[in-house]
Amino acid sequence: MASPGSPGGEGDGRERRGTGGWDEVLDGEAGLVAPGGEWRSALWRTAQQRFERAADRLDLAPELRERLLEPRRSLTVNFPVRRDDGTVQTFTGYRVQHTLTMGPTKGGVRYAPAVSLGECAALALWMTFKCALLELPFGGAKGGVRCDPNRLSADELERITRRYASEIFPIIGPDRDIPAPDMATGEREMAWFMDTYSQQVGHPVPEIVTGKPLVLGGTAGRKFATGLGVVYCIEAVLDHLGDDLGRQRVAVQGFGNVGAVVARELAARGATIVAVSDVSGGLVAPDGLDLPDVMSWVGEHRFLRGCPAGRAVSRTDVLETPCDILVPAALEHQLTARNVGRVDCRLVVEAANGPVTPEADERLAARGIAVVPDLLANAGGVTVSYFEWVQDQQKYSWTEDEVASRLQRQLRTGLRRVVDTAEQLDVDWRAAAHCVGIERVGEAARLRAIYP
Ligand code: GLU
Repeated sequence: MASPGSPGGEGDGRERRGTGGWDEVLDGEAGLVAPGGEWRSALWRTAQQRFERAADRLDLAPELRERLLEPRRSLTVNFPVRRDDGTVQTFTGYRVQHTLTMGPTKGGVRYAPAVSLGECAALALWMTFKCALLELPFGGAKGGVRCDPNRLSADELERITRRYASEIFPIIGPDRDIPAPDMATGEREMAWFMDTYSQQVGHPVPEIVTGKPLVLGGTAGRKFATGLGVVYCIEAVLDHLGDDLGRQRVAVQGFGNVGAVVARELAARGATIVAVSDVSGGLVAPDGLDLPDVMSWVGEHRFLRGCPAGRAVSRTDVLETPCDILVPAALEHQLTARNVGRVDCRLVVEAANGPVTPEADERLAARGIAVVPDLLANAGGVTVSYFEWVQDQQKYSWTEDEVASRLQRQLRTGLRRVVDTAEQLDVDWRAAAHCVGIERVGEAARLRAIYP
């Protein structure tokens, strides 16, 4: 209890001094004065809730809770870009660095219409615990530009990327913060990013980003790493459950750099892909889709719409297709209280970040449907990013086989940590993944203490 006269104490006349009549704003719904008010959003609430659940289970010291939850740095930038028609448009971008305790920060840059500070903060928090779970020497970060990449030309995307890179230049660096691909960004954007940074410092700095083209210092295997990591996780989980991939019927939501690789690689390993979807719609084939056919259709037409390989359905129907394994590999908050009752699978594997809401989580658990959490399932991307960064620092390249076998080992070890912790603490895999990450970062924060 606060003592009378202490700031915030009851009956204390002083606590409102200096608010200049802004009490309503400070106390009102916006609650801007509370820590975290700036990045309050639906996704942040999900991230915070998951953090707190794990912190409760670990009985984490209040001081560490304070230090581990809120992002340490967040930068918002507004910058002008010339469109192809000669007009000038202002774009908003963000970079959030969640934890500075573990090493440089690491995380992708996304281009999407709903990018916000709250979204980046939640995703940066997850990057922190994802890296800690895999024992990668990074804190978490995330950034992005609010835009609709499908309505921008390649020239416009180049100008946006280069300007965004220049705007966040003061807080990034190979030993400070290393961006990477995320939604709607890939090798092309990373090449522009690396070039812009290098031009500013006056010499090539390949290790400023990961996910670069091979010839610019990228690593073998990074392009497909997130998708391949999901596949390795599924194989490891099935081994753990004593099941076999050849017997699995799989539905995949999302057909981008992650979903398409997951579908292709699982099909190549003997699984039956019964449904896929992208922004344009979904395709269902209970006897299995011919993935090479679907891939070549998308190669030619860009989207799944019109593909004759299966029955056309809406993109959300794919989530409700009967299957053994459901892989949401698109956006966040896709399985919600509203549709989760119609989900018909045994296992959900989160290839996307945050695709299941906390309410949906509870209902899946009540129905005995296990979830392989994003912190583990999609960690293949940042793990191979770490390999790329290491190779860049060493000026030495590994073979694709070396990358793939190290990735597989690292993810199997990650799953073991999650399964063991889940058993020890009697929690689900999601809480266990958070607990492993929080314990590691918490221990580092405790040892480094507070300075000054
Ligand atoms: N954007 C990816 C993720 O969410 C990869 C980040 C990275 O490679 O740094 O994990």
